[in-house]
This record gives sequence, structure tokens and C-alpha cells, in this order.
Amino acid sequence: MVGCARRAPQYEWMVPRAWYNILPDLGGALPPYLRPDGEPVRPRDLEVLFARELVRQEFSQERWIPIPSEVREIYLTWRPTPLVRARRLEEALRTPARIYYKYEGVSPPGSHKPNTAVAQVYYAAREGAGRVTTETGAGQWGSAVAFAGSLFRVKATVYMTRSSYLQKPYRRVLMELWGAEVVPSPSDRTEAGRKFLSEDPNHPGSLGIAISEAIEDAVRSGARYVLGSVLNFVLMHQTVIGLEALEQIRYFDDYPDYVVGCVGGGSSFSGLFWPFYYEKRAGKAERDVKFIAVEPAAVPSMTMGEYTYDFGDTAGLTPLIKMYTVGHTYKPPPIHAGGLRYHGCAPTLSLLVSRGEVGAVAYRQGEVFEAARLFAQHEGIVPAPESAHAVKAAVDIALEAKREGRPVTILINMSGHGLLDLQAYDEYLRGALADVVPTAEELAAHLARVRELIRGKGVR
Ligand SMILES: *Cc1c(COP(=O)(O)O)cnc(C)c1O
Repeated sequence: MVGCARRAPQYEWMVPRAWYNILPDLGGALPPYLRPDGEPVRPRDLEVLFARELVRQEFSQERWIPIPSEVREIYLTWRPTPLVRARRLEEALRTPARIYYKYEGVSPPGSHKPNTAVAQVYYAAREGAGRVTTETGAGQWGSAVAFAGSLFRVKATVYMTRSSYLQKPYRRVLMELWGAEVVPSPSDRTEAGRKFLSEDPNHPGSLGIAISEAIEDAVRSGARYVLGSVLNFVLMHQTVIGLEALEQIRYFDDYPDYVVGCVGGGSSFSGLFWPFYYEKRAGKAERDVKFIAVEPAAVPSMTMGEYTYDFGDTAGLTPLIKMYTVGHTYKPPPIHAGGLRYHGCAPTLSLLVSRGEVGAVAYRQGEVFEAARLFAQHEGIVPAPESAHAVKAAVDIALEAKREGRPVTILINMSGHGLLDLQAYDEYLRGALADVVPTAEELAAHLARVRELIRGKGVR
């Protein structure tokens, strides 16, 4: 392997050799994951599901975790990813702000997701697994797992939310091309799936339900489960994004005032901002950088939800996780940013939001697509509907900077391209985009159920 580089040496050095782990730098312990009986989850509880090395990483207090050479070798197919200054967008906005985007859409599946899929499937294969199971919303995560499965000859079974399965056939094709089996969720393969199907035979599904199905399948069959977001090890694998960006932005003689990313579970955003957070805490940041998490108004966990213990999935099979949530019983409207249709968000991100160290904003689908069109017209790249949330936030910050005459620097995560989401763009262009958001009463009802659930477990 050594000596037969995949990328020319001028690129190769920039790809990190270790992932950054934020846990030792949080200034306190993360609230523990809890079992249904209220007792803390022990590592061996998670080993029923995940590769042992991933469980070790989940609780590790080491700041730097070496990237296996087999994984880094594959990263070099598309990494380092470009960091681009959006000069034409800046000009269009007539803003003194400088806007940079880190473009993760150049990976084979078209998003940041293979950064962790490749690592997770590698560890599963190394520990002898012949099959992995997982869920997918828009199909981005499923295609990343299918891609990783093809690299290590591991069979992938992907439970795909029914609304996306129907709306986004090309992602299913991509997964099948890479050899995965794709099952629309809820399905009749699992007890959890059958329960939701019996309530509604045309159930659109949700990430939470698909997670329940993938977990049930893995536990019953002994396959390894792989997860696209939320847990510490997933976010850690994504730090290759921010570690590269740290090096790259210095070539511009610049440093961000704002680091902005969309949040479904929070992995791509964390992957970008954690290394900047590390510099800030270590007193090495060149500016007082702010971190802005952007979520859809249709699933407003950070801006309208509660910071409390809740299940990670809809059927209640996962441990209880302390996080911002709109309640695991909430049924997200079928917005096109399928990757953001998740009721909770990562526990590390939730902790930082609760302390005010990360800010959160929410946008509606219509205004997000408008910003995406502006971006496509000036920068060429068609953002994934998820990534477009970060674009919208950047545009707003840049316009505010213009009003205030402040030449701030904004770094956004362009977590994926939208070339397999053109159906959604078509609806936007034809004015046919639905823009459903929950009412405060609706959210209050779901959160009351969460409170009822955790009462009696002695959980705070
Ligand atoms: C899945 C996905 C997201 C949301 O997931 P995070 O874990 O919050 O990053 C964002 N952007 C794209 C392109 C995705 O595929």
C-alpha cells in the first residue's frame, strides 16, 4: 500500500492521519446513555449491535484516534475535498462578507457520509461480519453504506424511509448497483415495521422507524448495525472535513468568524466545527469563531424542542439519550431534505447548544430552496436540499454583515450535491413545494409524552 499513492503527493499530505475526538475537551462528562431501566449503558450493551472498535471509540477519552491505513487509502479517492471561496455569490449579494464552502459532494455517493461508512464497514469486516444493516432517509447514508460494503465485500441491507424510496428512485438504483438490498420502511420484515404498517399501510416512514427496523434485524441475525449520525464515533470520523478545512483556509490567509452547517443528527456539522472548537478551547483560534447549527423548521429540535432524555428511534429500541428532541413520536412532514427528518440530534451537539456554545436557527423549506437556487446560479454547484439550509444561513449572515458593514468570514459545509434531488428542485421551480411546519401545541403534546415516558425512571 505504501508507495503506491492514490493522489499526487501535493494533495496527499493534507488528508489527516487521525480523527479528532471532542470528548476530552467538553469540560465535563457527557450525560450517560441510559437503558430502559434507567441504568447507564455499559460498552458491552452496545457490542450487541456495533463493531467492538466503534464501541471503544464511542467512550474513548483519547483526543486523537489513528485512521487505519486501509480507510485512509480509500479516503484518498476523493479527499482532500475542495475548500472554495464563493466569490460570485458574495458579489451577487454585494456583501463585504467572505463566504467559503467545504465541498463534500465530490465523494462517490455525493456527500460526507462515506467518511464514516467506510470506517464502520471496515471495522465490521475486520471483526468478521458478513452483513451490515442500516437505515436511510434521502438515501445518502444508504448509498454510502452500499459503497463501503462493495469495497470490503460486506452485504448491506438498507431500510429506506418509504417517502424517499418513492420520491428518490435513483438513490435506490445507486445502492443496488453497489450490491445492497434496499427495503422500503416500514416493512413487514420486522416487528417494529409491521406495527407501523398496521396503523397505516401507506405510512411514509421516518428515520426513527427505519432505525428501529435495522436494529431489530441486526440483533436478531447477528449482523452488525452501522449508523449514519448522532453517536460520538460517527461525528469523530467526520472530523476529516474540519481538519482539512483548518489547513486549507489558512492558504487564503483567512479564518472563520462563523462556521455553519445543517443538522440532521449533527455529524457533518460537527465534523466541520469540532477542529475549530478545539482551537478555540486551546486558545489557538485566530478569531472568536461562532458555531451555527441550521435545522429545518419542519423538525425544529434545537430551536423548539427540549433538552431531555429521549429514545434515538421511534419504536424505543435504542438507549435513552440526553439530547434536543421534538419527541420520538413526532412524525416529521415529508420535506425533501430527507437527511434532516430526525426528531433528535447528537448528544455532544445538544450539550454545546444547551451551554450556548453553539447557536441554532431554523428555516422553512421554501426559503431554503430559494437560497439553493441563488447558490447554483452563481457558484454552479447544486446543493443537496440538506446542505442548502447552511447556504440560507450563510446568505442571511452575509446580508446582515452588509447592513453592518462588517467584512466577516463565513465557512459553510456543503455536505453534498443535489443532482439526485432534481425532482425536489422541479417542484420548487413549479411553485409546488409544500411547506408544512408543526404548531407549538403539536410539539408540546409529543414532548409531554416524552416527559411521561422518562418519569418514574428517576432520570433528570
Ligand atoms: C445525511 C445528510 C445530512 C444530515 O446528517 P448530519 O448527520 O446532520 O450531517 C446533511 N447533508 C447531507 C448531504 C446528508 O446526506
